[in-house]
Amino acid sequence: MPELPEVETIKRGLQKNIVGKTISDFDCNWNKMLNKPLANYRKILKGLKIKKVRRRAKMIELNLSKGWNVLIHLKMTGQLVFGSKTRCVVGGHPIKEGYECLPNKFTHANFTFTDNSHLYFNDVRKFGWVRLYNDLQLAKAMTDFKLGPEPLSKDFSLNYLITRIKKRPNVKIKQFLMDSQNVTGIGNIYSDEVDFFAHVRPMRAVKTLSEKEISLIYKGIEKILTASVKAQGTTFSNYRNANGEVGAYSKQLKVYGKWGEKCSCGGKIVRVKIGGRSSSYCPKCQK
Ligand SMILES: [Zn+2]
Repeated sequence: MPELPEVETIKRGLQKNIVGKTISDFDCNWNKMLNKPLANYRKILKGLKIKKVRRRAKMIELNLSKGWNVLIHLKMTGQLVFGSKTRCVVGGHPIKEGYECLPNKFTHANFTFTDNSHLYFNDVRKFGWVRLYNDLQLAKAMTDFKLGPEPLSKDFSLNYLITRIKKRPNVKIKQFLMDSQNVTGIGNIYSDEVDFFAHVRPMRAVKTLSEKEISLIYKGIEKILTASVKAQGTTFSNYRNANGEVGAYSKQLKVYGKWGEKCSCGGKIVRVKIGGRSSSYCPKCQK
């Protein structure tokens, strides 16, 4: 699943391409990804302008004219493709079939703009969704998600982290970091990398962390996410960034996905299962 840096990269790609465009039509062949009947989408969206593209946690939000909004979650295999006659911008999980012939069999939603360009939502496994909310409904939906602070915002302070850890003392570090109610946007990749940065093993309970270790986790989150956003994210499985290129942060990964390989210290990176997710760490560097 794309995490903060990957979704942020997609958002930036879309921002350059769809802001200012007016929707002329919308179509969808998988009603479960919608939160209203398709007919309502078509009626409401027609004629609305894209005012802004934002990222909220791992979601993409399109702010439209007349107080409407579209909230998109790519989940495991979702992909957003902007296509016009002259360019094609991809974000999320590319589908091997290529982009020459869009829409394809994985295209489940399609925004058509008045200049005949399109924003396609493709999803192999169909876990993703495209929801339509007015401003009030959106505010309520965001409250219902109970999201913690954005890790690169001022709301995410060292004090907040310390207080939050005290509230959930028995949760394992990796699970704590991946829970969006504690902090948003961190998944499998960046939790492993943050734990390596802080020299802590992912399966320890957060209550065992010393003040120094908590402070290193805090620093690691900021440092690693910032570096990855700059590198346009990490390539995992067949993820590509918004320009259809591979994210360059892959080259900077220290432990994620590297179990069985050598750590920079010479030790061997191992894998452990935590809450059904596998996590990689170096037993020599991480205590
Ligand atoms: Zn090591």
